Amino acid sequence: MLHLYNTLKGEQEKFEPLEDDKVRFYSCGPTVYDYFHIGNARPFIVFDGLRRYLEFKGYKVEFTQNVTDLDDKIIDRAEEEGVEPEELAEKYAEAYFEDLDRLGVKEADYVPRVTEYVDEIIEHVSALVEKGYGYEVEGDVYFRVREFSDYGKLSGRSIDDLKSGARVEVEAEKEDPLDFALWKSSDPDEPGWDSPWGRGRPGWHIECSVMAQTTLGDTIDIHAGGHDLIFPHHENEIAQSEARTGKQFCRYWIHNGLLEFEGEKMSKSLGNFEYARDVLEEYDRETVRYFYFSTHYRKPLNFSEKNLEDAKSAVDRVYEFIRTVEELDTDEDGSEASLSDSGKKLLDRIESARDRYEGEMDSDFNTPGGLGVIFDLVKRANKFRDEGKSENEHLLQKAKEKVMELSEPLGLFQGRAKVSPFGLEEDLLELLLEVRNALREKQDWELADRIRSELKEMGVEVKDQEGVSTWTVDRN
Ligand SMILES: [Zn+2]
Repeated sequence: MLHLYNTLKGEQEKFEPLEDDKVRFYSCGPTVYDYFHIGNARPFIVFDGLRRYLEFKGYKVEFTQNVTDLDDKIIDRAEEEGVEPEELAEKYAEAYFEDLDRLGVKEADYVPRVTEYVDEIIEHVSALVEKGYGYEVEGDVYFRVREFSDYGKLSGRSIDDLKSGARVEVEAEKEDPLDFALWKSSDPDEPGWDSPWGRGRPGWHIECSVMAQTTLGDTIDIHAGGHDLIFPHHENEIAQSEARTGKQFCRYWIHNGLLEFEGEKMSKSLGNFEYARDVLEEYDRETVRYFYFSTHYRKPLNFSEKNLEDAKSAVDRVYEFIRTVEELDTDEDGSEASLSDSGKKLLDRIESARDRYEGEMDSDFNTPGGLGVIFDLVKRANKFRDEGKSENEHLLQKAKEKVMELSEPLGLFQGRAKVSPFGLEEDLLELLLEVRNALREKQDWELADRIRSELKEMGVEVKDQEGVSTWTVDRN
């Protein structure tokens, strides 16, 4: 039975979705004003893993991850670069999807963009104003925090604590310094939409409430994000959503710990960060994923060259095992009746592996524990192989299959991508496709088809459409 640490309750809780086997899962996506760095990547990978693990356990997961393609950061950066905000957002949204793909993150079921949800946002803000939770001051609309009695329940702070502790800018027009913007008026040179309060744009927090509820419903099961989003972002999301519907917005709030850079807080302003895409130039995506999963998601994680090198050698060790098993010639079925003692022990470990693995993972998605079960299996299978009991080679096959089965939710050890998305391979592929097209023009179908089918075996799918050949790499 899966248990998750729920920030709302401050403890681990049995996970029971609203509907038997369906999970409505929302995770905060990026603001696309830059490439994402390895700190931003942690929730993308961790919650990709949690989503897959829920599926592994038989749940049907509906997963939404938004793209904030409208924000002051985007407007400022666009001005710096002398381009339109839409153009800048589009560029970094595309880069975001590319990088997610390189990291082996499964595509979300819904990928709402703020600019496509402005009508719904205006509707939501209007409803809040009507109910007395929102008020307008000269084209801006604020949320009246004191009106929502549950405010502070996620971050565990009372309004009075917040008021004395918070570094709140004094904006004269607000009734209370804690009130936050639902809608902001736009200057003529800023992006804006017509609204009942004049031309303006949504505040940041309201976007997530609206996109989560529009795609998944009024009450969702899991809302995830980085620990730094608990306050004020997620606190505000609860206030806006529950003030409108009168229903619980989200049942389980899950937050990942932050990534440190060589032991220090990582931030763009300090300049100590690395873009995920740069890290992927040096390390393959399984190494990067392993690095994130090797520490429990709620703990701080230290990004360092050494930790990545350690991850790389761990991943290599498993692939070495997979490779040696694949090289074995195990046609014979092997009788389990004739197993040696060590064979029986190994079989026992294989057969109990899934239970032990789920036991670890069910305890607040304890991926280091889950990986421990996988590595234990590899270690024992290697030892068994070294004993040279060749008559029991089918056991090694079994061990390998189990390793792959249990690694699937983490997106690990499914067979290394034979084509790296970077560098020379890409150019070579293009060249190969050009040659193939020349063959097709000469109507040498046999050779052209051979190129296509051999590429397919390597995990490269070639599609011909209207005279153009494109390729995609199956990296899963
Ligand atoms: Zn959000």
